[in-house]
Amino acid sequence: MTAPALDELIAGAVALEKWPLARLVRLFEDARPEAVPGKAAAIAALETHGALPRAMVAGFTGTPGSGKSTLVGELAARMVARDPAISVAVLAIDPSSYRSGGSILGDRTRVHFPIGERRLYFRSQPSDRELGGIGRATYPVVRVLERLFDYVFVETVGIGQSEVEVERLADRVYLVLQPLGGDHIQFMKAGIMEVPHAFILNKCDVGAAARRSYHALRASIDFARPGEASPPPIFRTSALSGEGLDDVLADLVAHRTLRDAAGRRERDRYFFEKWVRDEYGRFGLDLLERQGGAEGLLARAATFEAAQAAYRPPVAPPG
Ligand code: GDP
Repeated sequence: MTAPALDELIAGAVALEKWPLARLVRLFEDARPEAVPGKAAAIAALETHGALPRAMVAGFTGTPGSGKSTLVGELAARMVARDPAISVAVLAIDPSSYRSGGSILGDRTRVHFPIGERRLYFRSQPSDRELGGIGRATYPVVRVLERLFDYVFVETVGIGQSEVEVERLADRVYLVLQPLGGDHIQFMKAGIMEVPHAFILNKCDVGAAARRSYHALRASIDFARPGEASPPPIFRTSALSGEGLDDVLADLVAHRTLRDAAGRRERDRYFFEKWVRDEYGRFGLDLLERQGGAEGLLARAATFEAAQAAYRPPVAPPG
């Protein structure tokens, strides 16, 4: 892309125009090595346009069926509706089906907003693994969206280990659960109580089971995380009736603090190594070490993408 064309694309994306934004996101979803220089140029152009990282990245994770998609759609729409200065991007990592971006949020959310509302953006991506977690393109796309929007909501299917990646990515992690029939043992079995900053017990419109589950959840959090100075909040919501959603919004607003430089460096390092491992395997990681490691490359480059461009991958598959 020529410099003027890139400049025009970035100006459109910064204004949250549909097509430039879609094109920019597709560029960052492109995992081919040839795409790396284009990404580095786009990030540099974003910086020139003053689009620096500004979003709070919130992770919403939980088992399928807990109502995550409905809840996240409602939260995003309400966030945008209540404050005309705020924009929200939703990135849904969907292991089961590749839902096409755009219309789905408008279809299922009960909060109505104008069709062309630029301050609300929805995109879904496939997950890398069958068991959920984030995809290869997730971090690259988050790096763009966090420069264009005030909040980036990342919705993932959480089954154990995938929470760890979400924790690396997000500034705040919410675990979405639905009422269970039984006791706290069932919550414990999930084995994912340690990571979240806050819990959302959704579908609280179901009545008695929700009340029992709330107490069981409180007990199992206390059991899994003994002696914590301030126990994580549990929000009781219904994505259908809207109950409790304002409390989650208030929690998001209250925790909209920007990651400091050290936090950003550590996040870059983690995802740089993930990128090398995913694309080039163990051999690629060995080569990375010989080039000064992720930390060394990132320290010498202006941005994550520039460090990717500077990395020398294996020329041929090993063996
Ligand atoms: P996900 O798989 O976690 O993303 O869950 P979905 O958002 O697709 O929701 C799964 C099902 O639960 C759908 O039929 C929703 O309509 C329903 N659902 C979502 N939120 C609520 C809620 O708060 N209360 C009730 N009763 N049903 C809900």
